[in-house]
Amino acid sequence: MKALRAAADLIWPADCAGCAAELAGPLCSRCRLELLGPVERREAGAPRLVPADGGPALPVWSSAWYAGGVRSAIVAWKRQGRGELERELTRAVGRTAEAAGRLLAQISPAIAVVPIPSRAWRNWGEGGRRTRGLAIAAAEALAGAGLKATVEGCLVRRATSREQSGLAAHERMRGRENATRVRQAPSSPCLLVDDVLTTGASLLDAERALANCGAEVLGAVVLAVTPAASQTPDRG
Ligand SMILES: [Zn+2]
Repeated sequence: MKALRAAADLIWPADCAGCAAELAGPLCSRCRLELLGPVERREAGAPRLVPADGGPALPVWSSAWYAGGVRSAIVAWKRQGRGELERELTRAVGRTAEAAGRLLAQISPAIAVVPIPSRAWRNWGEGGRRTRGLAIAAAEALAGAGLKATVEGCLVRRATSREQSGLAAHERMRGRENATRVRQAPSSPCLLVDDVLTTGASLLDAERALANCGAEVLGAVVLAVTPAASQTPDRG
């Protein structure tokens, strides 16, 4: 019986990926509510996105903080291969992109949706595929909001960029500088898509690389944002 249960869990785990509450689905209603919070600009706590000259930071829209059940669910999706979370997470990013699209439509009728190449996954190919899945959901939502949106895999990570996991935050920042290369210029102003915003180093690096080839980056959409010490997300 135990073996049967284990086999069934592999196909459709019975526990919420966020808080381990037992249920027949990938996320319980409490964790889903945390994931589908208010769509807001949440870049203020990312030190790398706030320019030293006091200029405006790159807008980053998200509906969740990277904490509690949301954090556990994203870790399960990325590190433990909980692929059944895909639908929950792409829905969240699509909802965020739709809200951002209402503002972006006033700037450009066409948007290139650009996934950030990531290495913080079980393996390289999987990270690219899943981040691209988030970008596809974002593009579909923008199209639903009346924009001409195309997913464009413009960015690649340089082969020399160091493995980031296990490094301190300041080392991660250094490792990410100039880690991104543009392999193909985007067709329109860009909206970047990533899973989690922490320091902002990856987004900043992508923005710089795109700006160097003349592309305009309008902002980014992410699943969740790591709360800075000064921010106090409303949760238990
Ligand atoms: Zn839960």
